[in-house]
Amino acid sequence: MPVPKQRHNKSRRDRSRVNHKLTAKKLQKCPKCGTFIIPHRVCPKCGYYKGREVINVLKKSKNGK
Ligand SMILES: [Zn+2]
Repeated sequence: MPVPKQRHNKSRRDRSRVNHKLTAKKLQKCPKCGTFIIPHRVCPKCGYYKGREVINVLKKSKNGK
């Protein structure tokens, strides 16, 4: 396994960590029910994606009882 020969100084270490920050998730409005959803995911409220129902939310909640 390769081992670093010399320690990086603070500025070099911190320069590398500049890009480590997290960015907040962008939210989109669901065209069906209007709640904010993560893009490219099925809407958790109405179960719609790309204009059609992918999962039956009501049925799922019934079975969960
Ligand atoms: Zn929806």
